[in-house]
Amino acid sequence: ERADITYFGAGPALLPTDVLETAAAALVNYNGTGLGLAEHSHRSELATNIINTTKKDLAAYLDIPDDYETLFMQGGGSGEFSATVYNMVAVWVERRKQKILKELGVEDSKQLPENVINELQKAVDEELKIDYLVTGSWSLKASQEAARLIGPGHVNVAADAREINGGKFGKIPEESTWKLSKNPAMVYYCDNETVDGVEFPGFPEVLAPKGDDGPIVVVDMSSNILSRRIPVKNFSVIFFGAQKNLGSTGVTVVIIKKSLLAPAVATTQPALLRKLGIPNGPIVLEYSTIAKNNSLYNTLSIFDVFIAGQVLKKALNTFPNKVDGQQALSEKKAKLIYAALDAHPESYKVVPDKSVRSRMNICFRVTHLESGTDESEKAFLKGSVEIGLTGLKGHRSVGGIRASNYNSISLESAEKLSKYIESFAAGPR
Ligand code: PMP
Repeated sequence: ERADITYFGAGPALLPTDVLETAAAALVNYNGTGLGLAEHSHRSELATNIINTTKKDLAAYLDIPDDYETLFMQGGGSGEFSATVYNMVAVWVERRKQKILKELGVEDSKQLPENVINELQKAVDEELKIDYLVTGSWSLKASQEAARLIGPGHVNVAADAREINGGKFGKIPEESTWKLSKNPAMVYYCDNETVDGVEFPGFPEVLAPKGDDGPIVVVDMSSNILSRRIPVKNFSVIFFGAQKNLGSTGVTVVIIKKSLLAPAVATTQPALLRKLGIPNGPIVLEYSTIAKNNSLYNTLSIFDVFIAGQVLKKALNTFPNKVDGQQALSEKKAKLIYAALDAHPESYKVVPDKSVRSRMNICFRVTHLESGTDESEKAFLKGSVEIGLTGLKGHRSVGGIRASNYNSISLESAEKLSKYIESFAAGPR
């Protein structure tokens, strides 16, 4: 029985049963049209309505200001590792080009004079940098993808958390030690590291906007979006796959500052980028193209947008004070689970440092049995499955136990897990 199972998997994650029931009906016959939602055209009015309503509800829930656009894309969080690079590098080159044109008193045109191109080439070679804060396996992957796409010489790892934690992730280096570039195309970080259980406690001070133009800040919020209030205004781009806190796998959401959507060199002058030695990204990853078409440049899974929309509707109905309500609940659930772990240091060891513990992915080792960690974790998992607590196995790259405490995990389920943690620690060693 579905009701007997609480699934703590890291993503895809549990979805509310009533949302799934509504979605199941819509999949067969949407709103009495005699046609299911996965069959209706993405060009139909009903598809546009679903997109627009979902955008509106997301904006309401997170208080997204009017000068931001929301895009529904494909390719997952991993696709955004590439998309952010292509798009933000194109913006950097465009801005740099405008600056050089102004300095040299030259009009913009498709056929730029040699001296402009030479200046631009020099700027690209010497100054184009993308900064990465590497605090876990997902930001590491993003930085590696950037190096693959535009070359390691343009990638600056401004901080690597492993350097201060014995070669392992689990801490976030002090802001004062970050080696940020002077004018990077973006500063990229992952707000919540799903595999390592590391979450930024809040927005990094040094990245706050200064005056009108602050640094371009790009953040991966795949595994903690919708779980706490975020200062949207401080970000240039926020992206997240839907499959953890928003909905089903298949749509990736991008919240982007509208000023970054002006057609940049990538669309207007692809030949110029090639000439500068910068690859042109796939058109399906280009933010301005997706924005111009209200996320319907090509066929989008409207069914998956619908599920996300239903999750948001439910969240708005559950929490009159919107994301603040969810934030309070998320904190309460995480506290319960961490408290049970901390109460038994002889049986458990939380992996990340206390200062950066994730509220969403609670990673720990089990040391309870005299026979060792492996045996302890096997026994812990076996006992949990027996009482319907599933999906607790840690990521294959790090092992251990991971309880993903996403929005769909109820307070009762978090209580059940914390009681199990207590009772396992009280058991025979
Ligand atoms: N970023 C984070 C923080 C993630 O947790 C994941 C997936 N677990 C990804 C990116 C990659 O997402 P996808 O599988 O949708 O490509």
